[in-house]
Amino acid sequence: MGVQFDNINFLRSAHALGQCPEDRGREAAIAGLSNTGKSSVINVLGNNRNLARTSKSPGRTQLLNFFLISEGCRLVDLPGYGFARVPAAVRQHWGKVLQSYFDHRRSLVGLILVMDVRRPLKPSDEQMLSWCRAAGLPVHILLNKADKLSRSAGLRVLAEVNRKFRVDNGVSVQLFSALTGSGIDGVKDRLNDWFGQDKVN
Ligand code: GDP
Repeated sequence: MGVQFDNINFLRSAHALGQCPEDRGREAAIAGLSNTGKSSVINVLGNNRNLARTSKSPGRTQLLNFFLISEGCRLVDLPGYGFARVPAAVRQHWGKVLQSYFDHRRSLVGLILVMDVRRPLKPSDEQMLSWCRAAGLPVHILLNKADKLSRSAGLRVLAEVNRKFRVDNGVSVQLFSALTGSGIDGVKDRLNDWFGQDKVN
């Protein structure tokens, strides 16, 4: 039996690694440039339209926002990348926090990376992917807003992105639509793989 996703609750925000919940159990991170639909993905996953609102409230966009999926399984929203208006010093601080999170967080089992299917693989996505590669962390790419393209155009983008990661076993890719919920089973399956896999804590 897989993890139940319909009772996800906001747990807490953290500015620094010291404020994260105890580094036990399993944790999947979710990231994406602003406006790619990351909050919508979290809401669809948790079947709750207000779930991700907390990550959008002023002051919370620079934080790691933790959600409890079920006992021992967490989702952590990594906001704050791709915000062009953030001052350079803040961006630098944020980059350091994120990098050290990827380097040291033992319960971290994978990253869901949300992209707009019409504009995939932006430079900051590449940055995320390189952090994950360095940390040996699997990544599941969601090509969101697939409803904006025809089925064949969507499949073309999927094939292109897949081709890029052909030799990279740690990266999987799928089409998704937070608007229609299409593709939700693929995300849940991937999360279940990660949460179910053996990881020494
Ligand atoms: P975030 O900034 O990445 O958290 O993005 P949001 O979840 O706030 O979504 C940004 C905008 O894209 C909103 O207007 C959403 O309604 C819209 N959106 C999100 N996902 C989808 C989708 O799958 N399809 C379509 N058509 N619009 C979407």
